[in-house]
Amino acid sequence: MQGAVGKSILVFAILFVGLILTTAIGQERNLNIIAFGAHPDDCDQGAGGVAAKYSALGHKVRFVSVTNGDAGHQTQGGGALAARRRAEAKEAGRRIGIEYVTLDNHDGELLPTLGPRNQIIREMRRWNADLVLAPRPNDYHPDHRYTSMLVQDAAYMVTVPNVCPDTPSLRKNPVFMYFQDHFQKPYPFRPDVAIVIDDVIDKKHSMYDAHVSQFYEWLPWHDGLLDQVPKDPAARLEWMKKWRAEEKEVTPAVRESLVKWYGPEAGRKARFAESFEVCEYGTQPDEQMLRTLFPFLPR
Ligand SMILES: [Zn+2]
Repeated sequence: MQGAVGKSILVFAILFVGLILTTAIGQERNLNIIAFGAHPDDCDQGAGGVAAKYSALGHKVRFVSVTNGDAGHQTQGGGALAARRRAEAKEAGRRIGIEYVTLDNHDGELLPTLGPRNQIIREMRRWNADLVLAPRPNDYHPDHRYTSMLVQDAAYMVTVPNVCPDTPSLRKNPVFMYFQDHFQKPYPFRPDVAIVIDDVIDKKHSMYDAHVSQFYEWLPWHDGLLDQVPKDPAARLEWMKKWRAEEKEVTPAVRESLVKWYGPEAGRKARFAESFEVCEYGTQPDEQMLRTLFPFLPR
C-alpha cells in the first residue's frame, strides 16, 4: 500500500515538473513580435533576419508598412504601384512564414497625426505585442522619422482603455526597440542587443528578392546602378546579394555588442548582424528579459 502511495506521489511529482517545464517552454514559444516600417521593405532591412529566426522557432511576427509605398518608383506610381508593393511585401513575409501587412497611407506624405497613430495602436493591441520594433526618430526620410514618432506616441496610449475603445487595450506595456541606423545626431545608435544572422542571411536576401520593384528597379535607379542589374532572376539575385552585403558591414559598436552576447570567438567571427536599441518608453527590459525576447541568444 505504502509502495502504491509512494508511486502515486512520484507520478504526481513527475507530472507537476512536466507541467512547469511545458509552461516555461510554452511561454518561450508564445512571443508576439510586431515591427513597423514606413515602406514595404523597411522592416525586412531592419529585422528580416531576426524575423526568420523567430518564425523558425514558432513565434509570431507581423511586419507592418505604415505607408503603401506608392511613391517608390521612377516610372510607376499611385494605386498600381501600391498594389504591386503590397503583393511584394506579402510574398516577402510568406517566404519566411510571417505576416506582412501594408496600411493605406500615401508614401512621402506621412505625418504624425491621430489617424495613423490610432492605426498603430490597434495593430499593437490586436497582435498582443511583447516586443515592438521601429526606426529611430532621427532618420533621413520624413516617413521613417514620423513612423518612429507615431510608434513612440502610441507607446503609452496602447495601454489606455479610453483610447481606441473598440480594440481592448494592452494590460502589459510592450518593450519598444529601435532598428539600427548610421545617423550620428543628436546621438549615435546604441546596439543594446546584437544578433548574429549569418545563418539566415539567405532568407533575408530572399525577402529583398521578393521586392522586385525596389531591389532591382527603384533603388538601383536611385543609386545610378540600373544598367548593372542582370535580367536573369538568378543572376540578379546574386548581384543584389553582393551589392547589399557590401553596404552592411558590422560597425565597431555592434561588434562590441556581439562579443558581449555571444562571447569573443563567435562575436568576432560573425559576418552579418542585426542590432536593436531599447527605447525609453514602454517596459524597460533587464538582461534576463532581453534573453527571453531574443530566445536565439546563446545561454
Ligand atoms: Zn523606407
